[in-house]
Amino acid sequence: MKPYSIDRRDFLRHACCGVAGLAVGLGMPHAFAATDNRTELTPDQVLALLKEGNEHFVANQASTAKNHGTRRLEIARAQAPIAVLVGCSDSRVSPEILFGRGLGELFIIRNAGNTVDVTAQGSIEYAVAELGVPLILILGHKRCGAVAASLEVVERSVTFPGRIGHMVQPIIPATLKAKQSVGAGASHDEVLDAAVRENVRRVSSELSLSELLTERQSAGRLKIMGAHYDLDDGRVDFFHEA
Ligand SMILES: [Zn+2]
Repeated sequence: MKPYSIDRRDFLRHACCGVAGLAVGLGMPHAFAATDNRTELTPDQVLALLKEGNEHFVANQASTAKNHGTRRLEIARAQAPIAVLVGCSDSRVSPEILFGRGLGELFIIRNAGNTVDVTAQGSIEYAVAELGVPLILILGHKRCGAVAASLEVVERSVTFPGRIGHMVQPIIPATLKAKQSVGAGASHDEVLDAAVRENVRRVSSELSLSELLTERQSAGRLKIMGAHYDLDDGRVDFFHEA
């Protein structure tokens, strides 16, 4: 016997939105739909909030992020994140902390080297199309181990155990380009920094090839930005709009 079937759109809601998804999937009142309370902030307004949050973090000011029980209940039935954050898994680069954001504000994709594979891209497109997120931020960071590993592959043909080499592979084109752009006399740190930035640019550009995302970009409803986080001073440098 064929079990209860749902179409793709409903499946996404089931998978990602808990009660909200269930409500839509079962044809319950639209009041529970995840899209009802999507953010009304523009891409630039979200960007301003992230910049402000990072300034507070750098200045060691107490975070005003809402992480208490009232906030938890406020978003329990439907999420309305304001930004997608594609960041590195590095334990020192925690997005909510360095941007001073709270529960339900950032839709985060993290892996070592902040790359975007098919699963990540689908997650990003889901956040934009179904949750109405107006900003995608790709965040690289200083002394990134995954990018450094790609540099070891390029410079010394180093191999890594398990699936680590596979994980590093998507970063290599950016590393090769960075090496070429900084020239032969550059130090290891200079090459690494250039590779981190080039990797962010490359990921941003590749995302801009998504038809779903470019439609919203053209309509002014979405921005895709690159940025760089400095582990030493805590500053995020917003440097690229794809
Ligand atoms: Zn990293």
